[in-house]
This record gives sequence, structure tokens and C-alpha cells, in this order.
Amino acid sequence: MCFAEKLISWYQANRRDLPWRRTSDPYHIWISEIMLQQTRVSAVVPYYLRFIRRLPDVPALAAVKDDELRKLWEGLGYYSRASNLKRAACCILSEFSGVFPSSEQDLLTLPGIGPYTAAAIASIAFGRPAAAVDGNVLRVWSRLREDARDLTSASVRKEIKKALESILPADNPGEFNSAMMELGALVCLPNGAPVCASCPVASFCGACGAGTVSCFPSPRQKPERRVIDKTVFILRMQNEAPLVCRREEKGLLGGLWQFPDLPSHISEFEFLSYLSSHGLRPEGEILQYAKKHIFTHQEWNMRVYCVSVSGSLPEGWFPLAEEMPLPTAYRTCLPE
Ligand code: SF4
Repeated sequence: MCFAEKLISWYQANRRDLPWRRTSDPYHIWISEIMLQQTRVSAVVPYYLRFIRRLPDVPALAAVKDDELRKLWEGLGYYSRASNLKRAACCILSEFSGVFPSSEQDLLTLPGIGPYTAAAIASIAFGRPAAAVDGNVLRVWSRLREDARDLTSASVRKEIKKALESILPADNPGEFNSAMMELGALVCLPNGAPVCASCPVASFCGACGAGTVSCFPSPRQKPERRVIDKTVFILRMQNEAPLVCRREEKGLLGGLWQFPDLPSHISEFEFLSYLSSHGLRPEGEILQYAKKHIFTHQEWNMRVYCVSVSGSLPEGWFPLAEEMPLPTAYRTCLPE
């Protein structure tokens, strides 16, 4: 058996049963691929099922209200992915007469769809000969070929994509892509811990044969994560839900709701003057505690003040309601 045959037959016998693998509907595959970016498979499943139930097709997604969309996405992070989904759905209706584009070239014109996602949809849903190259595939490739190049380089990725397309089986490109990704997720694991003894393509693997598996992919320096200090206020009026205000549309977590905050750590004395400058008075004990939230490129180091307040409601502040999407970074600040 050749490399592709061995890989695909292993995949067919060992793949995880995931809801988006039971369909070739491009809409379903698209939604799952966008959700899976930066998020674990097990975390995505319930979000995916709920999303597809509520928004089963492109017209439903194009028509959904922004707040409801954000609510469906709440907890997945990277909210720009959700707004891009809606923009792309509108684009499919207006530019492609509602017909889901099938070529990589057309898919790449849609907001939020990059080379990996375009190739995944084109190959899995439409059987197009496009290699989908994600982090798992790059890791597997670097070990198979003892490829020490910088895998973050766009030109290197392009060359790897081309090389994979030369071995992609014409009758089964989607299965091949899914199999490469599954191999990376289940067997050829990151951090120098692949399970080579269970690998279906070990006999084709350069690094395994040469005993150099731990050298690939080549280590590279990770950019440092920026640490940002913040003070977050959990304020309840007459024991109602905590007060929230709307974030600006642009930037991180744009358009979502948040607890009021300040971009540095402040003392309890400064907190009291903050309340008074907003026409509020503390009622009862002030709780103070620390919380942390980690994004890909930054870490929020939060000091939280939590107290009941009286006074008049500041403009633009409202008690948090069920339908208001609140990012996990803020939700985490609620007292335990
Ligand atoms: Fe990865 Fe080991 Fe398989 Fe090579 S033999 S592809 S290193 S799991």
C-alpha cells in the first residue's frame, strides 16, 4: 500500500465520531472549521450542535441579529470569527446567489476564510484536490520529511501544500486531509511525544527511521505574551444582576458586554472615588480578589472589586441579562 492508502485506511478504522464528520454539507463543515480554530474538539461539539440547530443554513446565519450571534458564540472567544461568519453568509447570498462556493479561489474571497479553511471546505465538501495545511499537518509533515524549515513562513507552507497536493489521492482528497489532521491529533502528537509504535505511516517516516523525532518540528521562539493590569468592578444595585456596559465595536471582544473596568490596578480608596464620580455609593462589605485570563497574545491580570451599590444608574450601564453576550474574560471575575 502507498502512503495515502495506509493513512486513509487507518483513518477509516480509527477516526473520532464527530458530528461534522457525518455530513458533506459545506455549511456544516465551514462552521465546524471556524469553531475549531484555537479551540479543542471536545469543547466545540456542544457549541456546534447548538449553532446548527438554531442557524441551520446560510440564509438563517445571514439574518441572525448580532447579539444573538454573539450569544451563540459566547465562551468560544475570538468573536471576530463569528461576525466574519455572518458577513460571509451575506456575501454568499449577494455574490454567489446563495450557492456555496466550491473552489478554493472563490472561498478565499469570503471574510474569515483563509487558505487552510478554503482547502478544507473545497476538499471535504466538494472533493476538490486541495491540501488543507494546519498546525497538525505541518508537524506531521516536518517529522515525515525531517523538514527543519520555519513552519510559520508563508512560503514554506505554500511549498508543503504543493508537495502534499502531489500525493493527494484524486478520488479522496477530503479523507486524506482529514486523515493527516487526525494523525496529528491522535498519534503524531506535539511536544516531542508522538506514539510512533502505533503510527500507520511509520515506515514512511524520515524522523522515525533516523531516531530524530524529538528534533522536529524545529523549535522556534514564541513571542512573549503581554501582561495587562486591569481593575474590574462587579456592582449590583438592589441585589440585581451585576452592571455591564457595551464594549466599543472595534478591537478585542468588540461589541460585546463587559463589567466596567479601568486599565490599571487601583486601591480601595481610588475605587471609592470611582464610585462617587459615577454617582454611586457602596452598600455593605467590599470584596476584593484577583483573577487572571489568558488570551493568545495577552494576559489580563485583574483586580476585582465586588459590592452592592446605591445611587442612580450611570448612562449606558444595565443589569446583565441572559441575552447579553459576556466574554469569558469578564465572566471569570464573578465571585465564586
Ligand atoms: Fe509522527 Fe512517529 Fe508517525 Fe513519524 S512515525 S509520522 S513521528 S507518529
